[in-house]
Amino acid sequence: MTSIRHYCGLCGVVNHPDAAEFAYFGLYAQQHRGQEAAGICTSDGRTIDRRAAIGLVTDALNERDLVELRNPMAIGHVRYSTTGSCSTANAQPLLVNCAAGQVAICHNGNLVNARAIRETYEATGHIFNTTSDTEVILHMLADAAYRDMDDPLVAVLRQLRGSYCLLVMFPDRIEAVRDPSGNRPLCLGRAGDAWIVASETCALDIVDAEYVREIEPGEIVTLSLDGIRSRRYSVPDTPRAQCIFEHVYFADPSSMIFGQSVHEVRKRFGASLARQSPASADLVIAVPNCARCAAIGYHEESGLPLGRGFTTNHYVGRSFILPSQGMRDMAVRLKLNPIRASVAGKRLVVVEDSVVRGTTTRGKMQSLRNAGAREIHLRVASPPIRHPCHYGIDFPSRAELIAHERTVEQVREFLGVDSLAYLTLDAMLACVRPPAEHFCTACFSGRYPIAIDGEFDKNVFELHVPAPAGAPPRAEVRH
Ligand code: SF4
Repeated sequence: MTSIRHYCGLCGVVNHPDAAEFAYFGLYAQQHRGQEAAGICTSDGRTIDRRAAIGLVTDALNERDLVELRNPMAIGHVRYSTTGSCSTANAQPLLVNCAAGQVAICHNGNLVNARAIRETYEATGHIFNTTSDTEVILHMLADAAYRDMDDPLVAVLRQLRGSYCLLVMFPDRIEAVRDPSGNRPLCLGRAGDAWIVASETCALDIVDAEYVREIEPGEIVTLSLDGIRSRRYSVPDTPRAQCIFEHVYFADPSSMIFGQSVHEVRKRFGASLARQSPASADLVIAVPNCARCAAIGYHEESGLPLGRGFTTNHYVGRSFILPSQGMRDMAVRLKLNPIRASVAGKRLVVVEDSVVRGTTTRGKMQSLRNAGAREIHLRVASPPIRHPCHYGIDFPSRAELIAHERTVEQVREFLGVDSLAYLTLDAMLACVRPPAEHFCTACFSGRYPIAIDGEFDKNVFELHVPAPAGAPPRAEVRH
């Protein structure tokens, strides 16, 4: 899968003298969650300091930054822009100095009512510095209407709709928040006296922290130099909606997500696919890397040998996160090269984790044909994607999705394979920890668990800027 972009990774550290370094490595381990920008804020208990820039973690932050940020509390963020453009102003954490004092924030997810909130504030003269949905939360925290309440953060959170895991830093503490739907993952870990929160457990592993538990949906965990405490809040009519795509593709296989090993779940997807859609073939290969676990599951269940069909250029980033299709296509060709000796003359089962636009998958299938594959039986370890995501994943528009309003046979023809089968929705849900109703499957099923307001436009706030006459479309301006 190479055609979608997303989404973000968070890491917060408290009570460690090198909190910034821990956060840096926690972000590095979660680089797969976003490659456009990275940043860290730290606090000495009185003042928050910030460094953030466009680029990978290693580009955005240098050794000097980490020395200057040396403090016992840190929050950090890797970003792909789900709302708002790829710009320095939108790099997170956002930091403001407002009536509530200094506040910094990082966000993973997407607020479906950010537009309405922002328009209300703009109508009263508020000035926004970014085009990201996250900034509305800072305006709300600074608003006297919330500031004067018993628990201003909870009062603000109760007004938000959509998907959000947040790390909100005040000079004396970090508030780690997971929205009541639990749409994105957030976990808690411990290394000695230090506490760590992160989107994925792979960030805990890198700093030798022990996994303690998930932050629960609708829970706020306050982390300070005095320890941690938890409180709960609710938003009426919010069903549980854990993103099943974290298990299909987004999360690192080494991570525990929603209380389950990503690797094990993906293996079960593959085994289920083998039972549901067997094929007469000589070899099972994965379209690396994300489909490897599912390919292992298919191989173990089917008894077909598992082989390697492609080499991977490890110096090319996750291609779908690149901002234009042209760049993504080039990156895919750079990244994957078929191994002729492995595939020539063979009947292949090719396991993919998902197919979005189909253009890159078709390219990969063509390269296998060019390398001499005799038959290609494509097995996709998730159902057809027919609907966009409104909760923080930057899928292409409905019309660009290859499975939208096309039959499986039409998709097979487009991809140029001998046979094509997808894992069914029920079979996929049977592979994750029940109850199935706790998962969002909207991009497959079209059933959106959290109410949405029309079609999502990631550049909704960019449209406030009048384009100069003759200017190219915004996407070209940005990149
Ligand atoms: S629509 Fe798909 S990608 Fe978006 S939250 Fe739901 S399952 Fe995840």
